[in-house]
Order: sequence, then structure tokens, then C-alpha cells
Amino acid sequence: MRFTRLRLNGFKSFVDPTDLIIADGLTGVVGPNGCGKSNLLEALRWVMGENRPTAMRGGGMEDVIFAGTATRPARNFAEVALIVDNAERLAPAAFNDADQLDIVRRITRDAGSAYKVGTRDVRARDVQMLFADASTGSQSPALVRQGQISELINARPTSRRRILEEAAGISGLYQRRHEAELKLRGAEQNLGRVDDVVAQLA
Ligand code: ATP
Repeated sequence: MRFTRLRLNGFKSFVDPTDLIIADGLTGVVGPNGCGKSNLLEALRWVMGENRPTAMRGGGMEDVIFAGTATRPARNFAEVALIVDNAERLAPAAFNDADQLDIVRRITRDAGSAYKVGTRDVRARDVQMLFADASTGSQSPALVRQGQISELINARPTSRRRILEEAAGISGLYQRRHEAELKLRGAEQNLGRVDDVVAQLA
């Protein structure tokens, strides 16, 4: 899967609809301080399902909505769309019915985030798994933020291992294992409760 376009509307400093074409090969973003380079990378992470406000340099997720300036009022929503070329049909089965995938995340004040793939409403988890299975995602080592290289050099072996696992495309399996373990724990608790009831009846 290849990213071909990024569309922003009301996301951080990108108050007006902005359509960026992502060409083949390596993409660099250059511009003066404060022009919004990091905001672009954050938009990419955000549409892929990033849920930590700190990763967006904010206190709460609504901080990604354009907050207004002296001359322009704040917006009520932010939307980011990532257009992915799926001509090689590498998307997970549930989404593998089109040559192009439009993945959209929208946040509205006091109403939280909503996701769509094409015209279908989906869950955050669906979008996160879609990218995790494609060896990319909001935590992907392909997105290099400022200071990350020195962090990597100084990282503990366990953190470096996580990066290698992400690159190898197995981080989706960890997420699934975690969900399976939670279900198992829930089932064990229910069984314990059944044992209590049986003991009371005996
Ligand atoms: P540098 O080169 O200094 O790292 P940069 O090009 O990466 O800068 P960003 O950090 O992406 O710039 O953008 C910072 C700008 O985005 C600031 O002007 C800040 O006011 C603006 N900004 C961030 N969040 C919002 C928001 N919610 N609403 C409006 N503007 C915002």
C-alpha cells in the first residue's frame, strides 16, 4: 500500500482545506520555523489512529482542532484524510475491494473522533489494525520526528526490539494477543463467579 495524498481541514494550523500529493520515493518537508512541518507528520499519525494527546503535543485530543487566531475564529471540527493506493490489493480482507482507500478521521468538539474507510463507518481499532498489518501505523519507524534518532541511539534493547517488530509487520499480532488475553481474563473471572454461585447452591 502506498500513500498518495493527505488532505487536511481544520487540523492544527491547517485551517483551510489543504491537499498534499505524496509522490513516489522519499518525501521531505521543508519550511521556516513554525510553518507546520511537524503538524503534517502529526496529521499522518492521527489519521492512522494515534490516540495519545501527548503524541500530538496537546493536553487533550481536541487540541488538534484549529484553535483560532486574532483574525480567524476557532473551528468546531478537524478532519484528515489519507488516500492509499491499493492497486496491489495488500489491504486487509475487509477493505480489499477497491484500488484506492480513503481513510478519514474527523473530530468534533464534545463529540470525539469518528473514522471512515471509503463510505463505511469503522472503529479506531479497524484503522489501527489496517496500518499495523501493512507494517506502518502511527508508531511506525518510517515516520521520523525531531530528536528521534538520538532517542533510538540511547534506547534500551527492549525499545529497539519494538521498532524492529514494527518494521517486520508483527505488531498487529501483539495487539491481537493483548485483546485475546483480556477476553481470557474476562472469561476466567466469569468462571470464578459461576463457581461461587455453584458453591452457594450446593
Ligand atoms: P519547527 O521547525 O520550529 O519545529 P514546524 O514547522 O514543525 O516548526 P509546527 O510545530 O508543525 O511547525 O507548527 C507550529 C504552529 O502550529 C504554531 O504556529 C502553532 O501556533 C500552530 N498550531 C498548533 N496547534 C494549533 C491549533 N490547534 N490551532 C491553531 N494553530 C495551531
